[in-house]
Amino acid sequence: DSEHVLMDEIAMRRALTRIAHEILERNKGFENCMLIGIRTRGIYLAHRIAERIHEIEGVPAPVGEVDVTKYRDDRSWETEASFVGSGEEAAAVEAKLEVQNKKLILVDDVLFTGRTVRAAMDALMDLGRPQMIQLAVLVDRGHRELPIRPDFVGKNIPTSRLESIVVKLQEVDGKDQVVIKGQ
Ligand code: 5GP
Ligand code: MG
Repeated sequence: DSEHVLMDEIAMRRALTRIAHEILERNKGFENCMLIGIRTRGIYLAHRIAERIHEIEGVPAPVGEVDVTKYRDDRSWETEASFVGSGEEAAAVEAKLEVQNKKLILVDDVLFTGRTVRAAMDALMDLGRPQMIQLAVLVDRGHRELPIRPDFVGKNIPTSRLESIVVKLQEVDGKDQVVIKGQ
């Protein structure tokens, strides 16, 4: 088994700051936009990007979350999508996401086959008709099985199917690091 560090804390911070700038450039600000974190690590990343956007633009960036662990098309459970408040509201109120006519920016840690993103889009579009959906990922490791591509990428990491990417985040793992694990 081999293990290589591909991103350290500084690289991750720079990547997320760049993504925040790219999101603002693409959308000419953050009006009518909302970041949507996908389950565990995507949610933390969405909040980090929201903080950067707030710092850069001076406006709070709303963050919602979607849990599609139970919604992948190769499984058969149901879905959940919830609004957890803007970056400024510490006491998040869970309510139905208001997606109608919004520009949604999905955020996840790793993009692989694309099935999770497809499921997240399905879940969101069940709630209304977004004006647009964009996708930001920290790592794109390739091997898509659906016609899905990210708009914003922290790092492209070509992998073999046997390799895996380990994303560690301060909030859950005590440190920021991206590691590739080989066979
Ligand atoms: P997909 O649905 O695109 O096949 O896989 C993406 C989802 O599975 C993401 O939510 C991501 O967290 C997880 N995932 C897939 N491959 C990897 C990987 O190599 N490393 C990590 N950390 N997560 C992965
Ligand atoms: Mg995930």
